[in-house]
This record gives sequence, structure tokens and C-alpha cells, in this order.
Amino acid sequence: MAQVTEPMAARTRRRSRTTGWSLTRRGQRLAALAFLLIVGWAMLVQGNAWLANRSIAATVPQGENILRLAVSGLRGELARYERLPDLMARSPVLTRALDPDVTQADIAAANLYLRHVTQLMGLSDAYVMTPDGTTVAASNFDQDLSFVGENFEYRPYFRDALAGMPARFFALGTTSGKRGYYFGAVVRDRGRILGVLALKVDVDAIEDSWRAAEYEMIVTDSEGIVFLASRRDWQFRSLNPLTPQARARVAATRRYDDEPLTVLPLRPTGTVGAHQTLRLDLPGAHREFVAVSEAMPEAGWTVQVLLDTAPARRQALTAAVAGLLVIGAALAGLMAWMQRRARLRERLSIQAEAQAQLEGRVATRTAELAQLNARLEAEVAERRATEAELRRTQRHLVQSAKLAALGQMSAALSHELNQPLGAVRNFAANALTYIDRGRVPEARDNVSRILSLTDRMTEIGRTLRNFARKPNAQLSEVDLHDVLRDALEVIAWRIGKREVDLQVDLPPGPLIVRAGPVRFQQVIVNLLSNALDALEGQPDATIRVSAQSASDHIVLSVEDNGPGIAEGLEDRIFDPFFSTKGVGSGLGLGLSISFNIIKDFGGELRLVRQPRGACFRIHLPRIGEPA
Ligand code: ADP
Repeated sequence: MAQVTEPMAARTRRRSRTTGWSLTRRGQRLAALAFLLIVGWAMLVQGNAWLANRSIAATVPQGENILRLAVSGLRGELARYERLPDLMARSPVLTRALDPDVTQADIAAANLYLRHVTQLMGLSDAYVMTPDGTTVAASNFDQDLSFVGENFEYRPYFRDALAGMPARFFALGTTSGKRGYYFGAVVRDRGRILGVLALKVDVDAIEDSWRAAEYEMIVTDSEGIVFLASRRDWQFRSLNPLTPQARARVAATRRYDDEPLTVLPLRPTGTVGAHQTLRLDLPGAHREFVAVSEAMPEAGWTVQVLLDTAPARRQALTAAVAGLLVIGAALAGLMAWMQRRARLRERLSIQAEAQAQLEGRVATRTAELAQLNARLEAEVAERRATEAELRRTQRHLVQSAKLAALGQMSAALSHELNQPLGAVRNFAANALTYIDRGRVPEARDNVSRILSLTDRMTEIGRTLRNFARKPNAQLSEVDLHDVLRDALEVIAWRIGKREVDLQVDLPPGPLIVRAGPVRFQQVIVNLLSNALDALEGQPDATIRVSAQSASDHIVLSVEDNGPGIAEGLEDRIFDPFFSTKGVGSGLGLGLSISFNIIKDFGGELRLVRQPRGACFRIHLPRIGEPA
């Protein structure tokens, strides 16, 4: 019982331990999951930013190439016309047109010349001005927006040229409304300044080549105003709010005429390497660029290529997500592996625990068995000792019983023999006296009494001889009917004397058994005479002798309705010399002799318990088939 309850309690303890443990483990798992999510998110954000930076940086060389091409294109465009003004300014056609004595023909010639060169060189406009800035001849003389008569004294290219400086200027044409790059050159006649020649180069064509590209391109002037842009709506917008001074400077030269010059919402957000990232927030267009820029000091410009970062960012995000997925998968694999290991460990520990428990139980059981064994051995030893003691006691008892039997026998014999001997002595003495007195009849009577007494003593001697009989004397097949008839004859004298109802009930036909006929008869006489003794003085005395025949044996019963055998004496009545009858009435050998005789016949004599009286049964093997 102890082994049963102890492991159960242990199991309960373990289960409760397991529950608590699993609760904390669930908490730990949740915390770990949250931590992993946070780490994953941080990694995604950081990794994405890093990858985006790298991807964007990877686009920079492309931007630099584009920028280089664009700048050299611009430079080439400007260089193409650099020397042209000085060359043209030496033309006599123009000197004549600026001469104070100019004729209509001279003006017409100059107009034609300017138009010719304009067409030839692909210029936008070409015109000449007097030293006060008034245009006298122009390539567009015959057009609606002719410059002839217009005054451009305020333009820097005019002023610089007059001052003998290189005159270049970018501006929005105040008359034409078209942007252009202006070159100025002074026209002299033998050292005397006659006026200024101006050429305007169209920049629209340059800009056109930038459109529909995957990048944006802007060219800003020294004030940070965008004047060339791949997108039209970015033109004439400043990158930074203009200071009043800057506005005044721009207004003085009427560079951008009346354009409002609003701010282009392109603000820097960070850097990628040495390059700035810019964010554009126009209604309906939120874009981010990385700016690659180069200054063109000869023109006072800054050229910027704006590369859209969206594709790079998309690529980076894809890579980051893929990377995270790979890491996640690897982590999941790692966790699964660790979990499997943990489970395996757990299983092993459970197995070990079970094994230990089993071993413990086996050890306990073994110890118990050993204890039991020791106890059994002790018991066996004790039993052996008891047995030996018993045997010893038995031997003593047998010895005592023998002695007791001898004692009983000698007592019985001396009683049985002393009485008649005493009587014989008395009768003999009396007979002597009667003979002396000559009273012969009395003497004779006494002698005959002596004779009967000696007969009785002879009878006692015979009984004793029978007791000491030789077993296994000659047996023969006898019929029970015959044996019973002879026995009844022998005992008839006793029955005749008494009022006893003798009932004999034997089945018809021979009842053959193997027996010594005289001894068998003696047994039956014995049983009958015991019954008669028991029925002494009983009014309704009945003796019943019956036999039952079975296929292999015959049972003969002798029963009476006397007082029966007293309780506790059943075992003793078959003992030799056991008798309840008074001295002189029985030797106590009858049942003992009968028992042994029947045993010699291969049968059995038993006392059968019944409500009233005694019943003795003789079982004998049957010879021959029943009739
Ligand atoms: P004995 O007849 O000399 O006493 P037995 O051996 O024949 O010796 O019988 C032993 C005792 O068994 C008797 O003394 C008697 O007490 C008892 N006994 C035997 N037969 C009967 C019987 N039919 N009814 C009652 N007692 C009996």
C-alpha cells in the first residue's frame, strides 16, 4: 500500500509542479514571441533603411553619368556660341547699322544679316543695340514681337558688354516670353564703341531631351531659382524662399520678367553618401529623390539630377522582407529543433524517473521478499523444531499410552480373574469342609460352581488370545446371509431373555464378501451384544440389522435406539481396553478387535452419527455381481 500511495502522491506533486511550470513557460513564450516580433520589426525597419540606403547609393553612379552628360551637353551648347558674338561684332554690316549716319538700306542689310546668321547657327534671336540700349536691327525685324525699337539697357549682358566684360546672361525674354541664354559683344569701329550685339540661344531644345526620362533634371541659378527643369511646373520656382534682396536683384535685371517665383516644395530629408535626399510634396505628387549635382561656375548654374528613390526603396523592402523571411524561417527551424531537443530531454528524464521509480519499487519489493523469506525460514525452522518436539512428545505419549494400556489391561485382568479366583478358593474351602462333614451334595454343588468359574476364566483367556490374534488368517468367500444367521443363533439366548425388537432387513440374493466366517460372525455378535448392553432396561428397545448392496461393495448396518455414544467418546471407543461398562461387564476389547478384523477383510468399521442411538456400519468389498 505504501508503494502505491507514495508514487501517486509523487505524481500529483509532479503534475502540480508541471502546471505551474507550464504557466510560467507560456508567459516566457509570449514574452519571447513579443521580443522576437519587436526585434523582427526593428530588423525590418533598420534593414530596410540600410538596404534602401545601399540601393539608393547604387543608383547614384547612374545619376552621376546622367549629370555628366547633361553638364557637358549644356557646356557644349554654350561653348558653341561663345566666340560667335565677337566674330559677328566685327562685321561691317553691323558697324554700319550702328553708325550715326545710318541709312534704311544699312538697317535692312543688318536685319537680313542677323536673320541669316540666326537661321544658320540655330540661334533664337540676334540683335544690335545702340549704346543707350535701343535695338536698331534684329533677326526678328519682320515679326510681330520684333525687338526693333525695344530697349534692353537693363540687361546685364548689355551692361557687361559695354563695360568690356564677358557678357552672358540667362533670362526669360521680356518681349518674346521665351527663356534664352544671352551673349553680348561690343561693336566697335576703330576703337570707338558703336553699340552692343546680343545673341539669344534657345534652351527649350536642351530641356526637351530631358523629358520622359526616369529621372528629373533641374538647373538653378545663383539665387536658387529653377529655370531649366524636366518638368514644366517646376520652372521659375525657387528652391528656398527668396530674400527681399534676392528678389530686388532679380527684378533689377528683369531676369524672370513677372514670374511669381514661388517656392518649389522640395525639401531635404537626409543624405545618401555625399548626396542629399529630397522630398517633393506637390498636391497629388509625393516623391523622394536623391540629388546628384554639379556646379557650372562659368554660367553661375547648378545642375541637379534627381533620381526617384521609389524603385530602390521597393527593391530594398522586397530584399528586407525576403531576408527577414529567411531569418524567420531559420529561427523557426532552430526553435523547432530546440523544442524537439527539449522534448527529447523531457521524455528521457521522464523515462529515467519512471525507471528510478521502478527500480525503487523493485528494491522495496525485493527487500520485502527477503524479509518475508527470512520470516518463512524462521517459521520453517520453528516448525521443524515444533515437529521434532511433537515427535518427541508423541513418542512419550505412545510410551505412556502403552503403559496406560498395559495398566488398564492388568487392572481389568486382575479384576476379571481375582474375582472368580477368590470365589474358586471359597468354593474349594467350602467343598473341603462339606466333604469332611460328609455332606457330599453340598460339596458337589460347590465343585460344580468351581467348574463354571474356571469355564469363565477360560473364556477370558480366549478373549485375550483373540485380541492377540494373528492377522491375515485364511479368508474365504462368504455370504452375508449365512454369517448373520449364525451370529443371530449365537446371540439368540441373550435376545430371548429380553424384550427387544430385532429387525433384520437384508436384500435377497447372495451378498458375497471375502472374510473369515467365524471372525466376521464374532464382529456381528460383538456389535449386537454392545447394542443389547446399551438397551439394558429400556422399554421400547429396538435393534435393526440391515444391508445395502452396491456394485462394488456391501454395507452392513447395526443400529439401536439406546443412549448412543456420549459426545467426545467417538474417537476413543475403538481403543483397546476402553469401556464404560462396569468391572466384570466388559474388557473394552470388543470394538477394537472388531475394527481390526474388518480391516483385515479389506473393509472398514465406522460409527455413524445419528439423532438417537448408535449406528455401526461395516463396509466390505463385494465379490461377484449383485443378483
Ligand atoms: P465392552 O463392551 O467390553 O465395554 P467394547 O469395545 O465392545 O467393550 O465397547 C466399548 C465401549 O463402547 C462400551 O463400553 C460402550 O460404552 C460403548 N458402546 C459400544 N457399543 C455401544 C452401543 N451400541 N450403544 C452405546 N454404547 C456402546
